[in-house]
Amino acid sequence: MAGINITDLDKVYDSGTEKVVAVKDLSVDIDHGEFLVLVGPSGCGKSTTLRCLAGLEDVTEGSIAFGDQDVTDRRASERDVAMVFQNYALYPHMTVRSNIGFGLKLSTKLTGDEIEEKVEDVAEMLGISKLLNEKPKALSGGQQQRVALGRAIVREPSVFLMDEPLSNLDAKLRSDMRTELQELQADLDVTTVYVTHDQTEAMAMGDRIAVMDGGVLQQVGSPEEVYRSPVNQFVADFIGSPSINLLTADVDGDTLRGPGGFTYTLDDPAPVEGHDRVSVGIRPEDITIIDSGANVADVTVVEPMGNENFLYMEMGGHELTARVEPSIRPAEDTQVAFDFSEAAVYLFDVENGDALKTKTDTVDLSVVGTTES
Ligand code: ADP
Repeated sequence: MAGINITDLDKVYDSGTEKVVAVKDLSVDIDHGEFLVLVGPSGCGKSTTLRCLAGLEDVTEGSIAFGDQDVTDRRASERDVAMVFQNYALYPHMTVRSNIGFGLKLSTKLTGDEIEEKVEDVAEMLGISKLLNEKPKALSGGQQQRVALGRAIVREPSVFLMDEPLSNLDAKLRSDMRTELQELQADLDVTTVYVTHDQTEAMAMGDRIAVMDGGVLQQVGSPEEVYRSPVNQFVADFIGSPSINLLTADVDGDTLRGPGGFTYTLDDPAPVEGHDRVSVGIRPEDITIIDSGANVADVTVVEPMGNENFLYMEMGGHELTARVEPSIRPAEDTQVAFDFSEAAVYLFDVENGDALKTKTDTVDLSVVGTTES
């Protein structure tokens, strides 16, 4: 088993007439057995990074090591990786059994019986034993994705690379498969790099998540770290659903003044010292509806979610979203006053988006429970 070290990786696509910098100066160290999710908007360089790890693209600069082996110049077939794609890429004319075993037949000296045994073990692990003699077209999307996973697992690679493997599945199945895939990965203990544009999936699955934008790595951290302590406004805005509320405010001593009469006085103005304007971020769950106060917004839509309500509000032409208790259900087109604690406030530099302040309330993030199941 191997960890992965990506060092100063650049990837430039050069068609002769045009150069596209897809990945710029990327360095990440991924631990043995870690599940790292690469996440970011479309075109940010996630797939390119994964393809460089797989050996499907040459790197322009930099190096890639698996464990203590530099694999930068090795071909894909010499890297001991298994890839799982969004479109399954199963051979339609082969049975599930042959699809799963095919790679072993090509790349190992195992006997037919040994391959058969491995295929059956993996099929059982994935709950597809009954489908071994079917062809892919007889299977549902979820079953096909299990076969694709089986084909990767059976090879016992040192690294799994997964490119949006669940995005063709419907929402319920996707969420079930997320859990299944995480459990499998933990059991198999294989270093995994997983690409998705879906921040919810990234948060749910990653031991750590690496947020990219425009080919540049913005931040790597645990889901809690990137959520609570984003390095910049891009990360704060990309991570979290519904998104963080952002508005620009003038700094007047220790008071922030924004659109629609927004006003907030900081107990600790140190983060905004030297700034005339800042960007203020408040997560929807940190907004509290109160009877009366300085900040008042118009309620435009109320969405009851059962366990909570989403309030969509407007203040000085700015949309605000609040996640509140189900009992808080103001009528649409009325006004409500709201408040939030200073500990929950994020502040960003308006020029470069750098974080000036993130959440400062203390939350115990240690994992509880010690009994191995
Ligand atoms: P993501 O996976 O985050 O959506 P990609 O890694 O696919 O992003 O693409 C990153 C950038 O590189 C994009 O601007 C994309 O258009 C460009 N790109 C990707 N593949 C190629 C290619 N084969 N030739 C030229 N440009 C490419």
